[in-house]
Amino acid sequence: MADGAIQSVTQRLIKRITAYSVVCVLAICVAQGWYSWHHISEEFDKSLLLIGETQLPLLAISVWDAEPMAIERQLSHISQRPYIAYARLTADVGAVFEAGNPALHGRSDARIFNLAQPNDHEVSIGTLELVPDPAFLYSEIGRSVGFALVGYVILCCLIILLLKREVERPLRHVLDYVTGSAQDRSNQMPAVGRGQDHRKDEIDIVVEGFQTLHKQIDLRMRELDAEVESRTTALQSAMESIQQLSIMDPLTACYNRRLFNERIVEEAERAQRLARPLTLVFADIDFFKRVNDNHGHSVGDQVLCHVSAIMRREIRESVDWVVRYGGEEFVLVLPGTDQEQAVGTAERVRAAIAAEPLAVRGQAIRSTCSFGVAQYQPGEPTSVWLERVDKCLYTAKQSGRNQVCAWENRDIQI
Ligand code: GH3
Ligand code: MG
Ligand code: MG
Repeated sequence: MADGAIQSVTQRLIKRITAYSVVCVLAICVAQGWYSWHHISEEFDKSLLLIGETQLPLLAISVWDAEPMAIERQLSHISQRPYIAYARLTADVGAVFEAGNPALHGRSDARIFNLAQPNDHEVSIGTLELVPDPAFLYSEIGRSVGFALVGYVILCCLIILLLKREVERPLRHVLDYVTGSAQDRSNQMPAVGRGQDHRKDEIDIVVEGFQTLHKQIDLRMRELDAEVESRTTALQSAMESIQQLSIMDPLTACYNRRLFNERIVEEAERAQRLARPLTLVFADIDFFKRVNDNHGHSVGDQVLCHVSAIMRREIRESVDWVVRYGGEEFVLVLPGTDQEQAVGTAERVRAAIAAEPLAVRGQAIRSTCSFGVAQYQPGEPTSVWLERVDKCLYTAKQSGRNQVCAWENRDIQI
């Protein structure tokens, strides 16, 4: 069966009830007609018997006394009865009297009565012919059949109305909900539209079942929504942590070399595009191996954190950035800063590191750093630039450490 082409159970019931009712009503009408026919025929015979008992003696007297006026009056009286269409009196002397419709004379259903002589009942003085009124018969049959017909039609209509009200309408509510708006989770199943006073039945139980199911599904969906939301949040924060970990050095909280390699090319391109200076400072802690050797690796780690914290503190927040390039080597990336300004920054950092020893277990561990500084030259490969900075650092080391050495070839045009 195609979607939407459902056959309503109520419509099917109504069609069947109507069909069966038509057959039943026809059968009942035939039975009623047959019964009415016999009943009215019996009643007619009884009426005629009554006429025979009451009217014939009077008519016989009128005929015997030859009183035509009286005969005609009595015949007229008889023919006015609703079930008699024609009355005809034929006297043996030849006189004929009639009342009603003469065209009905001689019909096969006519009843013939003998008029007996008043003083000698064995002697006939004439006959009385009474013809029943077929219209009366038919109207009586029609009336009783009509009443039955109207009664059954009213009954059918009531049954159909009840079916529509008690079955079709509530089922339609359920159907509309199930087929259409159930997609909308916020939509509640509407009331099925029956009175408050009606007693609970199967449809109510189905509706209650749907409502309970709807509430449970809605609740479960809300739980799932909340669960998905909380897991998404957890996932996002895990992703952020992973992303942070992938670009940060876990010991010093500086950016790592991986991020540096990725971003330094972009920084160089941006500086070139915007015609802004960009300078790198390489920093290497002096004689760091001795710290490890004299105080242990863990104190060495603390020195690394201490020195990198001073570096971050001394640069511009959210513009410059510090990278842990290797073991005790750091890079300060200074966008928008030319070499001269960068030398100033490196000098400030150097002085701060030298002036702020790390206190460990009551002992002051003093550190110094050597610095190499070189500004980016537009168009040069970053590897060449890094080599230049490294050379400056090497020079600083060679020149006695704890100092800043800048690139001396000033042929820089930006
Ligand atoms: P220079 O002045 O010439 O730079 O001498 P240096 O001792 O600082 O240089 P060197 O390259 O000889 O020694 C660097 C040392 O840094 C060796 C290594 O054990 C240490 N190191 C590297 N990474 C770490 C680290 O993560 N933690 C600690 N504690 N030490 C590290
Ligand atoms: Mg080194
Ligand atoms: Mg060193």
